[in-house]
Amino acid sequence: MTDQPLILVLDAGTTSTRALLFAPDGTPSGLSQRELTQHYPAPGWVEHDALEIWDKTLACARDAVAAAGGAGRIAAIGITNQRETVVAWDRQSLLPLHRALVWQDRRTADACAALKERGLESAVQASTGLLLDPYFSATKMRWLIDNIPAVAEAAGAGRLALGTVEDWLVARLTGGAHLTDASNASRTLLLPLAGSSWDDGLCDLFGVPRAALGEVVDCAGNFGSTDPVLFGGAIPICGMAGDQQSATLGQGCLSPGETKATYGTGAFVLANMGGVVPHSANRLLGTVLCQLGGRRTYALEGSVFVAGSLIKWLRDGLGLIGSAAESEALARSVGDNGGVTIVPALSGLGAPHWRPEARAVITGMSLATTRAHIARAALESMAMQTLELAEAFAADGAAWTSLRIDGGMSANDWMAQDLANVLQIQVERPAFVETTALGAAMLAGVGAGLFDSLDHAASAMRGAVTRFTPAPTDIAARRAAWAKALAAT
Ligand code: ADP
Repeated sequence: MTDQPLILVLDAGTTSTRALLFAPDGTPSGLSQRELTQHYPAPGWVEHDALEIWDKTLACARDAVAAAGGAGRIAAIGITNQRETVVAWDRQSLLPLHRALVWQDRRTADACAALKERGLESAVQASTGLLLDPYFSATKMRWLIDNIPAVAEAAGAGRLALGTVEDWLVARLTGGAHLTDASNASRTLLLPLAGSSWDDGLCDLFGVPRAALGEVVDCAGNFGSTDPVLFGGAIPICGMAGDQQSATLGQGCLSPGETKATYGTGAFVLANMGGVVPHSANRLLGTVLCQLGGRRTYALEGSVFVAGSLIKWLRDGLGLIGSAAESEALARSVGDNGGVTIVPALSGLGAPHWRPEARAVITGMSLATTRAHIARAALESMAMQTLELAEAFAADGAAWTSLRIDGGMSANDWMAQDLANVLQIQVERPAFVETTALGAAMLAGVGAGLFDSLDHAASAMRGAVTRFTPAPTDIAARRAAWAKALAAT
């Protein structure tokens, strides 16, 4: 290892928490990872133990610091995290007052429905870019106050801290700071996209005491240093962003129109919207991509619920393929889909439909249909779902100029080429697919002064990419079959 300063990234995800190191040229090293326990106390309820998140993140960070050769080798920490998940803790003891309510948790569905019935969704969307859905943080915060006596008591005594996971980690790392970056804050329903801090009207509407919330800060800067006891020396915390925003930066989507799509279990698409507050007429979400020097860059966001999980279902549910990667060879083994179309609404349809009750269909099968046709139709459904999103983004004034892909499914070259053909734009896949961690490293590098801008951080740290160039493609028949199948969901 050279003696360049290193950047330590803490990536606190949903299923695991990780730490890894980056050199200023983007070379990663020292990955340490620990699984998180998922608690499902009732149908639709999902919780994490916030102390477990902290203990395991700290253990991973200690592994990485040891691999680096000590705290003195680390110039800065960057944090990226599962978004929307709410932690309630006591400001004095820094102990959680209850388990964290995870973004997937649906327990506040009725509270959201009641607000919708009062006709409040359009005003909330115009201000925050978000919809009235249990996914976002505010109704979870209120639930904790209403249902957990220790939380209500702490609120009464002025000791309650409510925050998302980056805020919780900063509190523990520094011994008490209460800060949230604007990208994470923009997922709570309490931050107007155009306002620098929490909105009193929104706090009142959702019943969240403003005094319990942390200070909204930039995504890069100096947010305080770690307690020297933790790593044998103080390390400044210099970057923070929610995981999807971080991945968008890690993909180098720094100019308006540049778009990334992460194909994991589901697919998350974010398009850079520049400095203009986005307003969607197509049920996409407006969100803060990042904030630097008090200036915001925005993104539009759309998610489809089923991507890699369709391939997993072909493998584990149907036993039609032996491995996820086999889907590629099967798709290549046939000249076309043989008339088969799949609309993979196995767990409902996300953007732009928002029909959680919809169910999947496979149409157009005959006695000539083979598992290769099904595999091909499954991969083709990724481009068709992405095309629907591309059209919704374009209708909202955010036509994509390129698509940068990552996530487990992006390893599939056939799917990547099909995306380029169907969308008729260049598709790029980085050689280094840990874009979420890279984005946080870029922010920390800027915050620590190693780079003077995100553009410089991206050119220094992003590695090689594979490009998929669109070939002339007539998708009229696929489009018509898709529309028919969609109607049957
Ligand atoms: P997550 O982060 O949501 O857990 P990953 O990014 O790890 O997901 O992606 C895993 C998903 O990608 C799985 O659902 C798997 O079916 C799918 N997948 C992995 N490799 C391939 C491949 N070569 N072709 C198609 N799908 C794949």
